[in-house]
Amino acid sequence: MLNIAVAGGGIGGLASALAVARAGHTAHVLERNTEFAELGAGIQLAPNAFRALRHLGVAEPVAARAVRVAALRLLDARSGALLTEMPLDDAYRHRFGEPYAVVQRGDLHSTLLTACQEHERVVLHPGTAVTGYRATPDAVRVVTADGRTVEADALVGADGIRSRVRAQMLGDGPPRVSGHTIHRTVVPMADVPDGLRWNSVNLWAGPGWHMVHYPIANGEKLNLAITRDDGARTAVSGVPTSRDEVLAGFPGLHPRARALLGLGREWRTWVLCDRPPAATWTEGRVCLTGDAAHAMLQYAAQGACMALEDAVVLGEVLEGTPEDDVAGRLALFAGLRRERAARVQEVSSWMGHALYHPRGAAAAERDAMLASLSPDDLLAAVDWLHGHALGGPAHQGAAQAVVLT
Ligand SMILES: Cc1cc2nc3c(=O)[nH]c(=O)nc-3n(C[C@H](O)[C@H](O)[C@H](O)COP(=O)(O)OP(=O)(O)OC[C@H]3O[C@@H](n4cnc5c(N)ncnc54)[C@H](O)[C@@H]3O)c2cc1C
Repeated sequence: MLNIAVAGGGIGGLASALAVARAGHTAHVLERNTEFAELGAGIQLAPNAFRALRHLGVAEPVAARAVRVAALRLLDARSGALLTEMPLDDAYRHRFGEPYAVVQRGDLHSTLLTACQEHERVVLHPGTAVTGYRATPDAVRVVTADGRTVEADALVGADGIRSRVRAQMLGDGPPRVSGHTIHRTVVPMADVPDGLRWNSVNLWAGPGWHMVHYPIANGEKLNLAITRDDGARTAVSGVPTSRDEVLAGFPGLHPRARALLGLGREWRTWVLCDRPPAATWTEGRVCLTGDAAHAMLQYAAQGACMALEDAVVLGEVLEGTPEDDVAGRLALFAGLRRERAARVQEVSSWMGHALYHPRGAAAAERDAMLASLSPDDLLAAVDWLHGHALGGPAHQGAAQAVVLT
């Protein structure tokens, strides 16, 4: 049995701790905040996330708090025309073996937190900021802001896009500023007119900007976000923004979408950041997961899904690890995950410029390309992403069988 320190108690850190504990080790989660918490906003979970949650033993409680949306829809933000739609019906569910659903971030995070709290081999350390580590061939000494040193057999850096663990391991500086500004809010569904209460994930694509909305919290709230490619050069995180400023930024938005935008009262703004794929995620007994390893733009709605997949694979490779093979197993983990995560990072950026933000001729090309795809073509395009087999040989066989039918 190993003692494994996990820096960060977000979705990725808690999932990693749970996976490690289920593999028979003790996980110590070091979280800088005094409370373990998440934003009130929503998050989309594709079948690959539910597959990971099932491995972690928490798929059912998450599904019970999630909204099963009926479709993913892409609309022209100016004309209101439906450009394409992927039904998330029984055929979709059968193909991928798990649902596509949307959930309030806090509901996902608190389910993972409860599972960690109930697991005898997870120890939570709130108010513990990691500042660095000292690794030897036999152990890792994790250094915290209050001057303590936590000794562990391994350190998992799940401390997000501005990871201290990554900074020490790779020294690759701050994340890349994307130049995209996003405004986010949550609206009570009671405020949304009947005709606009769509049970789907809706993306309105405009020239250089797009708006997304979907129901969360048992359909009691509407998650609303609007993003513009404005070339912003400085990272911004959660700054309060007036409703008038948000409304003024998107002339040409279709009246139905504008009606929704006008419902937002408390807006906050971020300038999005990501990172290019990294050549390595490990240094001896230290590894990176989640956003610390592969921060991506949110356009494929897969950052947290990838963090959940990472956790499952980490747990599996660490099962039965002898003391002297910790570094080898972490290298194996990174080897199993890096290529897939890099592909999702790249696809996420591509979706932003090629699907959500094109203008003029590029937008017309996009429309023609989408119109040429049959419903089956659309599903085939996401097989690699939503149908990804995860886990040991038994599970892999089952997942592949589902994908192939
Ligand atoms: C607008 C937007 C929409 C998104 N939508 C989706 C979606 O629909 N689907 C999806 O799958 N993903 C989505 N994502 C991505 C997703 O939110 C992230 O990929 C995911 O939350 C990453 O989880 P994480 O645990 O790796 O990092 P984080 O959530 O950043 O958690 C890191 C944790 O580490 C803690 N921490 C940081 N530094 C330290 C330190 N030095 N010491 C100790 N603790 C530390 C932090 O307090 C935090 O608790 C979206 C992202 C954005 C920005």
